[in-house]
Amino acid sequence: MMSSNINPGIAVIGAGPAGASAAVQLARFGYNPVLIEKDEVGGLIRNANCINNYPGFPNGITGLKFAKLLQKHINKYNIKFIKDDVLGVEFENECFYINLKNDTLKFDYLFISSGTKPIKPGSFNKEQLKLFDYDIVKYLRKKNRIFIIIGAGDAAFDYALTLSSSNEVIILNRTKHINAILELQNKVLNNPNIKYYEEIIVTDVTKDKSLLIVHAKQNENQLMKFICNHIIFAIGREPNLEFLGESIKINITELMKNNNLFIIGDAANNQFRQISISTGSAIKSAMQLHSYLLNSKIEK
Ligand SMILES: Cc1cc2nc3c(=O)[nH]c(=O)nc-3n(C[C@H](O)[C@H](O)[C@H](O)COP(=O)(O)OP(=O)(O)OC[C@H]3O[C@@H](n4cnc5c(N)ncnc54)[C@H](O)[C@@H]3O)c2cc1C
Repeated sequence: MMSSNINPGIAVIGAGPAGASAAVQLARFGYNPVLIEKDEVGGLIRNANCINNYPGFPNGITGLKFAKLLQKHINKYNIKFIKDDVLGVEFENECFYINLKNDTLKFDYLFISSGTKPIKPGSFNKEQLKLFDYDIVKYLRKKNRIFIIIGAGDAAFDYALTLSSSNEVIILNRTKHINAILELQNKVLNNPNIKYYEEIIVTDVTKDKSLLIVHAKQNENQLMKFICNHIIFAIGREPNLEFLGESIKINITELMKNNNLFIIGDAANNQFRQISISTGSAIKSAMQLHSYLLNSKIEK
């Protein structure tokens, strides 16, 4: 495997709102951060129907448009962008080694803004799991399909709203409780293209040619069947840090305390996941590194 050293040695893994913010702030300080992203700039927010809570957008903005603005912002600062999947990260001899498919990159400082990964449903086999999706970016241009969304939080209701503009949507909620905020509930429950069912336990999923059949029980006993083209599970997310190697895991507190490593955005945030919190933590960490580097220079 090839190894290359990129100056001045700051990498940012993930180009969602957190990673993009960190990279821009670091560039403004005069560093040359390298942004590594396996997919598109924007991250999870590309799925959002309408962002209504980010300052500066009083009429809201779609997730895709917001992502395009992030891309423009990154371009404006000429940030070096590598489109690749980070497979592993190790820390040896005071350096981070980032393993990509065909390369290993070496850096002095590392920002991890890899966001979250979906929690997958436990009760299905490998073949069934292949039938499910966990976000909707690839379906944004689809029309006249039937989507089943399983879940009743903000993401589930937001997905339903987006897809309902040109498709039929069925939401299946396991309980009677809706976790989505009131604003989303009102829009979803009054939308003629969205059917909402509660106290539904999905027991099996089968395939019939191109259609998927969801077998379920309502109120513990009444058997039901739903036919659809796509099934989206939106039952929660958890921090996406699985690529961290042992050498990082065992030293993580120390590395963060010493300003070598910064975990920012949703990847660091278990409960409150919003773009302003992600971008805020990113800018704060970039400022913290800059201040640390300045002080280290003065001490020398
Ligand atoms: C449907 C929906 C609607 C939402 N609406 C709103 C809203 O209206 N307002 C709001 O404030 N928030 C909203 N959010 C939440 C918001 O999307 C997140 O809080 C935000 O995107 C987190 O930013 P982040 O940069 O920390 O992580 P992410 O956006 O998750 O970005 C992480 C990035 O890291 C990349 N990555 C991960 N692993 C690797 C790897 N191994 N190698 C390379 N790259 C990797 C991913 O591809 C991704 O691009 C919504 C979320 C959803 C799902």
